[in-house]
Amino acid sequence: MSITELIEGAKQVYDVGGVGCCLHIVLDDGNLNDGDVDFCIRRAEDHGHETCKKFAVRLRAESLEVREQLYERYDEYYTGTESLIQKLWRSK
Ligand SMILES: [Zn+2]
Repeated sequence: MSITELIEGAKQVYDVGGVGCCLHIVLDDGNLNDGDVDFCIRRAEDHGHETCKKFAVRLRAESLEVREQLYERYDEYYTGTESLIQKLWRSK
């Protein structure tokens, strides 16, 4: 899976539900370990969000390095409006 494809997939997740939906802790907060992605998969199952689940499963198959590369491109997949506070918090 290329980074470009992952960015596209992440955008679709934001279309499902605002701030990263079921993948909020990964896509917005940058918790990128296997256990964090597993948490998102379970959450997507609980919510019945197929798009979120599919993306989380895809992300689970990627290495930590790839997840980091994706998170570094937050500005490209984030489709909502970000408050100044969030921006400052992320730039720390
Ligand atoms: Zn969701």
